[in-house]
Amino acid sequence: MEKFIEVERARELILDDVKERLPAEKVDLLSSLGRILAEDVTADRDLPPRDNSAMDGYGVRADDCAFATAANPVRLTVVAEIPAGSFWNGDLPPDSAVRIMTGAPVPDGIDAVIRRELVDELGDVVVVKGPVKPGNDIRRAGEDVRCGAPVLTTGTRLTPAGIGMLAAVGRPYVAVVRRPRVAVLATGDEIIDFHEDPGPGLIRNSNSWSMAALVLQAGGVPQVFPIVRDRPETIGRALRDAASGNDLVITSGGVSMGDYDFLQEVIEGLPGGEIRFWQVRMKPGKPLLYSRIDGRPVIGLPGNPVSTMVSFEQFVRPLMKKLAGWPEAELMLPRRRAVLTEALSPAGKRRHYVRGVVEYAMDGGLRVRSTGAQGSGILNSMVVGNCLIIQPPETRFAAGDEVDIELLDY
Ligand code: AMP
Ligand code: MG
Repeated sequence: MEKFIEVERARELILDDVKERLPAEKVDLLSSLGRILAEDVTADRDLPPRDNSAMDGYGVRADDCAFATAANPVRLTVVAEIPAGSFWNGDLPPDSAVRIMTGAPVPDGIDAVIRRELVDELGDVVVVKGPVKPGNDIRRAGEDVRCGAPVLTTGTRLTPAGIGMLAAVGRPYVAVVRRPRVAVLATGDEIIDFHEDPGPGLIRNSNSWSMAALVLQAGGVPQVFPIVRDRPETIGRALRDAASGNDLVITSGGVSMGDYDFLQEVIEGLPGGEIRFWQVRMKPGKPLLYSRIDGRPVIGLPGNPVSTMVSFEQFVRPLMKKLAGWPEAELMLPRRRAVLTEALSPAGKRRHYVRGVVEYAMDGGLRVRSTGAQGSGILNSMVVGNCLIIQPPETRFAAGDEVDIELLDY
């Protein structure tokens, strides 16, 4: 077991234990938003399927208009009208045109469209006042996507544009990686449910709900377990239960040095239980415990509400993304550089994740400030914060310094 390790090492140990992503499942089109595609999708026909007009105007033979000028306009007889959604396959007689709407298929024999604004319309005669190039204002069949071409490949995260493309190639269902199922457990004798009255020495359980919300936000399915009391047998039973039906277990509390912090010894004592590391060089979040039960990851997050959330962001979110098939490069929080508008308190021996508020300045750069008090129990710092300022060990930051930040609201 490793102890008191760097954040990067801790993340590496956790991620390396994920040997493959979760299996695929078929979901309907809209439910695939934000999920990772688990099949290659190809176009079942050309997109657009036929040459069609890019404008409301007149379909012509470019040759007929080759010598048109404002002084010497060409007059063409309008022989048909083609609204979008209809189809005309007549032969265009010489010196004629068809009135055609945006999106309507361009008939054979017509090789250019002149937009309406550029001509004079006199009943069923259209007056063309300049030449037009072949191909003008015609969208070509297959110019977006060719029939049979790959449009979306395995491992792609589905965005609204991807959903549009799936619809365009006629796919009401699609295979995506299953959502990670995550058991959420809060431990502690002092913790009560939010509908109970917090008597002396008791506090409401906020961690189960912030953790469950983070799981949902990260694309997982949370299963919130009842509060687990600080008794080894109770903890052992709850962990076994939680691990059996889920891809991942996260707990809060019970991982520090206190007399009632039993998680580590309980997991060590469980058949199939193994501790992988304990304690990370970060603040908040030091006591984090990473273990496995029968191969299922069990991450013991520290109990203080900010520590719980910050360590979720550093370790649980990337793990969930890896399980869900996200590309390696996108597992971490997005990083930016920002200019501090105020000094920060000096950092101690551990990397400090200072909750910050980042904003765009008028010059387009990013400005960041601390949320204020940084205690690991100041849940409000996570409520008002939208980023984490990375403060390396033993550093002092002054106003005007450029710092690394990790974005929280995305
Ligand atoms: P622990 O790591 O178990 O010693 O917990 C540290 C502190 O975190 C406790 O003293 C509580 O103040 C707080 N805490 C623990 N669990 C929760 C919870 N589920 N909801 C809110 N605060 C908690
Ligand atoms: Mg506790």
